[in-house]
Amino acid sequence: MHTYTLSKLAAALQKKEFSSVELTQCFLERIKQHDQDINAFITVTAESALANAALADKRRAENNAMPLTGIPIAHKDIFCTEGIKTSCGSRMLDNFVAPYDATVIKRFREEGMVMLGKTNLDEFAMGSSTENSFYGASKNPWDQTRVPGGSSGGSAAAVAARMTPAATGTDTGGSIRQPASYCNLTGLKPTYGRVSRYGMIAFASSLDQGGPMATTAEDCAMLLNVMAGFDQHDSTSIDKAIPDYTATLANDINGIKLGMPKEFFTDKLDPKVALMIETVAKEYEKLGAELTTVSLPNIDLAMSAYYVVAPAEASSNLARYDGVRYGYRCAAPQDLTDMYMRTRGEGFGAEVKRRIMIGTHLLSAGYFDAFYLKAQKIRQLISDDFQQAFSKVDSIICPTVPNTAFCIGEKIINPVEMYLSDFHTAAVNLTGLPGLSAPAGFINGLPIGFQLIGNYFAEALLLNLAHRYQKVTDWHQQMPEGI
Ligand code: GLN
Repeated sequence: MHTYTLSKLAAALQKKEFSSVELTQCFLERIKQHDQDINAFITVTAESALANAALADKRRAENNAMPLTGIPIAHKDIFCTEGIKTSCGSRMLDNFVAPYDATVIKRFREEGMVMLGKTNLDEFAMGSSTENSFYGASKNPWDQTRVPGGSSGGSAAAVAARMTPAATGTDTGGSIRQPASYCNLTGLKPTYGRVSRYGMIAFASSLDQGGPMATTAEDCAMLLNVMAGFDQHDSTSIDKAIPDYTATLANDINGIKLGMPKEFFTDKLDPKVALMIETVAKEYEKLGAELTTVSLPNIDLAMSAYYVVAPAEASSNLARYDGVRYGYRCAAPQDLTDMYMRTRGEGFGAEVKRRIMIGTHLLSAGYFDAFYLKAQKIRQLISDDFQQAFSKVDSIICPTVPNTAFCIGEKIINPVEMYLSDFHTAAVNLTGLPGLSAPAGFINGLPIGFQLIGNYFAEALLLNLAHRYQKVTDWHQQMPEGI
C-alpha cells in the first residue's frame, strides 16, 4: 500500500481493503526501516498517529469520512502543531512546543488525515539542500550521497522514499518546486494568499506560501482542496471561492497556449536540461497544446531582487528570537545584552546569521531606498513582464531547476552558487504567481522536473496540465531502488 497514490488509498479505505490503522502502521514501519539512512523526519508522532488513525476508522464506519480521512501525511516542521515540537530546523526552536495549530494543520486534522510526523528542512527554510538544518541534512533517496533539495527537502525525501504518501511544504523562492524536481515528485506553490500562512513560521512574509507535495498532480489537487481557502487569521489570505481542484484535472487541453520564455532557454542552460523540457513541451503539443516563445525581459534581475527582499524580511521576522519568551536561551547570561547576543549567537546557524546580517544592512538608514525599495520596483517590472506574457499564453513552461540533485557538501561552502539554484523559481514568489513542478524524466539516473507557471489563481489549470501529462507518461511512477 505504500506505493498507492492518495486517490487509490482513499478508494481502498472506502472499500475496506485495509484500515487506517493498518495503513498508518505500514508507513510507521517504513519510517523505522528507512529514516535512519534518509533523515527526512525531525519528529515522528507514532503514538498520536495510531490514535488518530483509529478515530479515522471510526469516522469511516459512521459514514462521516471526508475524501482523505484516515490517510497519513507528514508536515514540514515549519507549521506549528499544538503540543508537538515545532523546530523550524533550528537550535533556536529545538525546545519549542507550539501552543496552537497552524491553519493548514487544523484543516488537515479536520479532514481526518493522520499526521506521521514533522519533516526536516533548512533552518528557517533558508537554503536549497537541507544542509542548513540543525538536525543534519536529509539524503536524496535516489542517491544518498546527494541532497534532496531544500528547504522542504525532508518532505520531498519522505515522499520519495514512500515513508508517507504526501507531505506539506513551503516555498519562498522555490522550496517546494526544487525538492520536488530533485526527488521525482509533483509539488505546487499556490498563488500568494491562497493558502493561509497563519502558524507557518515566517521567513520572508511577502514571499512565503505553503503547498502540497506528492507523487501525482491528482494527489496535489486533493491536498490543495483541503489546504486552500480564506483565513481571517492571515491578513494576506484572499477571500475568493475555491474550486474543486480535482473536478477539472481531466479537462481537454486542446488549444491551450504554452509559452517558453526565451530568457530561460539560453546557452547558459545545460543542454541536457533544455532537451528534457523541450521533450515535455512536444508531448504537450501532441496533446493539443500550442507552443510559442514568450519573453520575460527583466527576469535576470529576479535573483538580485529576491536576495534583497528575502533577507530583509527575514532579518525583521527573526528579531523575535531573543531568548525572552520562548525558544533557546543561553546559559547564565550576565545581563540583557549578553543574553540577546549569546542566545542569537548560539541559537542560529551560519546561513541564518548571514541572512540576518545582509537583511539588517539592507534595511539600515541610507540603504533602504537604494536596495529594498529598488528591489520592490524590480518586482513590479517582473510582474508586468509576466502579465505581458499571460496576455499571449495560458501557462508558461520552463525548467524548475538548472540541474539534477547535487552532492552533499558540494555547494555548502559557496552560498552564492547555492543561491543560483533558485534562478527559475524565485520570480514566481516575487510576483505571487502559482508554479508547479512535475517529473520530466531522468538525467544520469537522477530525476528532474519541469515547471508550469500560471496567472493568479490558475492552480486548477496547472494541475490539469500536469495531470494530462502524467496520463501519457510514467516518469512520476518511477521509484528509487531499494525503496
Ligand atoms: N533557496 C531559497 C533560499 O534559500 C528558497 C528557500 C525557500 O523557498 N524557502 O532562500
